[in-house]
Amino acid sequence: MSLLVVGSMAFDEIETPFGKSGRIIGGAGLYIALSAAYHTRPVNLVSVIGEDFPEQTLETLRQRGIDIAGVERKTGRKTFYWKGRYHIDLNTRDSLVTELNVLGDFNPRLPDHFRNPDYVMLGNLSPQVQLSVIDQLPQRPRLVALDTMNFWIESTPEDLRKVIGKVDIIIINDEEARMLGQTPSLVKAAQRILHMGPEYVIIKKGEHGALLFSENEVFVAPGLPIEEVFDPTGAGDSFAGGLMGHVARTNDTSFDNLKRAVIVGSAMASFCIEKFGPQRLLELSPEAILRRQEVFKQLSHFDILYH
Ligand code: AMP
Repeated sequence: MSLLVVGSMAFDEIETPFGKSGRIIGGAGLYIALSAAYHTRPVNLVSVIGEDFPEQTLETLRQRGIDIAGVERKTGRKTFYWKGRYHIDLNTRDSLVTELNVLGDFNPRLPDHFRNPDYVMLGNLSPQVQLSVIDQLPQRPRLVALDTMNFWIESTPEDLRKVIGKVDIIIINDEEARMLGQTPSLVKAAQRILHMGPEYVIIKKGEHGALLFSENEVFVAPGLPIEEVFDPTGAGDSFAGGLMGHVARTNDTSFDNLKRAVIVGSAMASFCIEKFGPQRLLELSPEAILRRQEVFKQLSHFDILYH
């Protein structure tokens, strides 16, 4: 089944306690598309880049079956640039520089053959841009998922509420869920967000795993204890790409299948953090991804002794 992905493409510069990446390719849209393309086809990417974005990266995306007809290159303009520095725990980071450049006036236009997607993944962008994508779809897709961040929760709450009312899944981290739900309790926050419209709420807890909520059910996915986390950038987007890639491949939106999707997402995120930037996402095999899912299964499998 087809998956429409909307998200940023970027030059990133990342500093972790282990080193500096220098200027590398990144962006939420890029991570989502690379991760999803291991699971489903076609993956149709909508984004915007400047004249400086390397043609070679676009070729890499094409080779992976990602249709980049929706990636607009603006001549004479610069690509979005983001610089971040991680704290020692690698769970928190500061954005040191955000230069929106072409992302500042991003007005996505979907090519005709992108307009009837089965599934949609709206990466972290302004709620207005996310709404404009939904408004360009003549038919309701089977499932639309949305990622957002604290910046939009604080700066454009009304637009964000509007777009949340139109999606089926929201994928956010624990801090953002508390902010959006206006309560320290993650369970209460999830219930409140469900009341805003979505059928599922997925709360990422970094190294501690992820929670999946529907109105009546909860699933807890473990975090993989990794000895050396190298760079967490893009983990959330790789998670979202794997999750929606799995849902699109299996064409099944049941809670049971969403549980599997959360594990696929967790497996993809666990790979992403092993190297700087999207590097690790470029060298995986379907077998390695399956093996990693097995590890997740083993992590939380146990039997109860009844006597
Ligand atoms: P993640 O680590 O999953 O939250 O995503 C990291 C990616 O998000 C990086 O590659 C950045 O280029 C991109 N990014 C950072 N800030 C923004 C922003 N304000 N809008 C869109 N993308 C962003």
